[in-house]
Order: sequence, then structure tokens, then C-alpha cells
Amino acid sequence: MRRALSTLVPVLKDSIIIFVVYTILGIILTFVSLICTSSSVKIGTLRPILAIPTHEIYLLIGALLICLVSCAVYRRFDFSFLFLPIIFTIMLDLDHLPVILGVAQPIRPAHSIFFLLALILILRFVLKKPLYIEFLAISSFLMHIAIDNGVFALFSPFSFEYYDLGQIRIYLGLLAIMVAVMAGYSKRVLNFQSHMAKEKISQR
Ligand SMILES: [Zn+2]
Repeated sequence: MRRALSTLVPVLKDSIIIFVVYTILGIILTFVSLICTSSSVKIGTLRPILAIPTHEIYLLIGALLICLVSCAVYRRFDFSFLFLPIIFTIMLDLDHLPVILGVAQPIRPAHSIFFLLALILILRFVLKKPLYIEFLAISSFLMHIAIDNGVFALFSPFSFEYYDLGQIRIYLGLLAIMVAVMAGYSKRVLNFQSHMAKEKISQR
């Protein structure tokens, strides 16, 4: 635990940068979806106000499940396995912002494969993050979709055809867990590699 605590500050800094980038990306995609769609697909609504806290708790439980699985495979607690799934899972709903502000919008524009793809590319090539962070992003996205119920514009902002994934939610949840396993394993491999590199240096 002392070792995990020593990583708290760097993980916190990293998480804040990822949070800001994720938020900006979500807002950009939401804005693009507003300007490139006709009014016929702007049928997004908010769930009833009283149902929102319960839904957020389910999302938090989904994020904690990813944390639990990835830490179990990593065999250690790591703050990035806690903070990042919470950010990725919960902040995806930022794309409901227009309807909160009373502006007509398409349904869930950031719950899109292209949003996930853009995020992965930014994590990889702009922020240059290790693979386990990309796995956490994918796992959290799948977990969120599995918890949400309804229809998604999966190819937003290029197409606003809506898809109902209700029949495969359970499989999406299982896939999210599998990707969380890959995140934990990837971090383990990364630690092993850096440990071996340090050993080599000390032997010189
Ligand atoms: Zn959602």
C-alpha cells in the first residue's frame, strides 16, 4: 500500500490531464453532432431526474468492477486503475450537455465508436500513454454501454442511425471485464520490463 501511495501524486496529475482531454473531446464531438445533424435525429432526452443518481451509482459500480478486476490481475492496487475507469465511465455522459441546457440534440453523440477511436489515438500518439491506459478506456466504454439502456448513434458524428444494443448488454459487460483483465496484465508486463531494464543498468 505504501508503494501505491507513493504513486498517488503522479497518477493524480496524469488523471487530471486525461480528464481534461477526455472532457474537451466529448464536448467537441457533442458540438460537431449538433451542427452536422438535421432536426429529425435531434431526439435526445434526459432520463427522469430521479433516475439519474441511481444510474450514476450503477456507472460507479461498473468502474469499481473494472478497478477490482485490473488490480486483481496486476496483483497490486494502483490508483490509475481506480481514477481512470471512474473518469472514462462517468464522464461519457457529458454528451447530454445540450439537452441539459435546453438545446435539441441527437441521442448520446459521444457513445460512439469514433469517439473511442479518437480517444485511443490521442492517448497513444499525443499523450503517449502506455497500453494499459488504452485498455482501461476501452473497458470503461464497453461497461458504460452495457449499463446504459436504449439506443446509440454508434457511428456518430458520421451517421446518426440509432442502434438498440439491449440484446447484447450482457456480452458487452463481459467484454468490458475481459479488457480490464488485459489492462491489469499489460501493466504487469510493463512493470516487469522496467524492472528488468533497471537490473541490467545496475549490473553494468
Ligand atoms: Zn450514457
